[in-house]
Amino acid sequence: MKDYKPKSRLPIKAYLDGVLEGNRVILSRAITLIESNLESDKILAKEIIQAVLPQSGNSIRIGITGVPGVGKSTFIEVFGKHLVGKGHKVAILSIDPSSQRSKGSILGDKTRMEELANSDKAYIRPSASGDTLGGVANKTGETMLLCEAAGYDVVLIETVGVGQSETAVHGMTDFFLLLMLSGAGDELQGIKKGIMEMADMVVINKADGDNIRKSEMAKLQYQNALHIFPKSESGWIPVVSTASSTQNTGIDFIWDQIMKYKELAVNNGYFKNNRNHQQIQWMYNNINEELKRLFYTSKDIKNHLEVFEKEIISSKVSPVKAAQLVIEEFKKLF
Ligand code: GDP
Repeated sequence: MKDYKPKSRLPIKAYLDGVLEGNRVILSRAITLIESNLESDKILAKEIIQAVLPQSGNSIRIGITGVPGVGKSTFIEVFGKHLVGKGHKVAILSIDPSSQRSKGSILGDKTRMEELANSDKAYIRPSASGDTLGGVANKTGETMLLCEAAGYDVVLIETVGVGQSETAVHGMTDFFLLLMLSGAGDELQGIKKGIMEMADMVVINKADGDNIRKSEMAKLQYQNALHIFPKSESGWIPVVSTASSTQNTGIDFIWDQIMKYKELAVNNGYFKNNRNHQQIQWMYNNINEELKRLFYTSKDIKNHLEVFEKEIISSKVSPVKAAQLVIEEFKKLF
């Protein structure tokens, strides 16, 4: 298919000026370029990001995860409003692994964070779609940079705590917040040990009404559980607390802790080192995604794969040999 430049595209300067002025309409249009599958849009998006790079990075990037139903959107609405009340500009992005598998989405199907969405100090962007988690994560990372350039000084990246997307979010944020419920074991909540290990803070959510006592008990249990993990490189000892979004309790404490973390990590150099490390990793993620795209969108490769799939089934070639032969074919293309 011939790549074309849609008429609705603006000159690059209009995107740059608009984003830097914090114009939300232009910001949204620039993000649409990031999410586009058109080659010309992708190139334009990369130029915009390159140009605004010096104005990006000035936010605290917070990852928020927890299983469906734990109360993420309710929490983010309350937390976001709290931050807006303190004078912050808050961007909320999401990585939804379900959107690429089932085309349906765990996060996106319901109306979420309606009140926050009406605030002119908050910007909510649902998950980009894509074929791979890596691709979606890269797009979210680029969106984050544009939001920062547009003046958002708090970026919340939300994900569903059921799969690998947490690692992706952890890889692009400064602080990782895990929402949990009382009265259910980790197994029940589907939270893997690896996710607990990444958390800078665990919040036992819905600590209200009859749940308060159980939540306090869960808090102690998680505090004990976190002790067995090796100390984090940041020097920060993960905090466990309770909160209720419906009662608006424990919300301010969470922000206080994030600010304490930031102070510690900035002072001991971890904050900058971690971001540097993330930037390098991000380059490799982009290379990986691009290589995969080049490989799987090649017509030649598609044909070879079709043949080898049949040959594997009829035991003519081993899967390992087939992989080697396809790669050999790929090398011939350059
Ligand atoms: P998500 O799937 O993680 O985004 O969860 P939601 O924010 O949609 O919340 C799931 C359900 O839990 C909804 O019915 C909410 O009203 C309820 N909920 C969320 N936060 C609280 C809370 O702090 N206390 C109580 N009691 N219920 C809550």
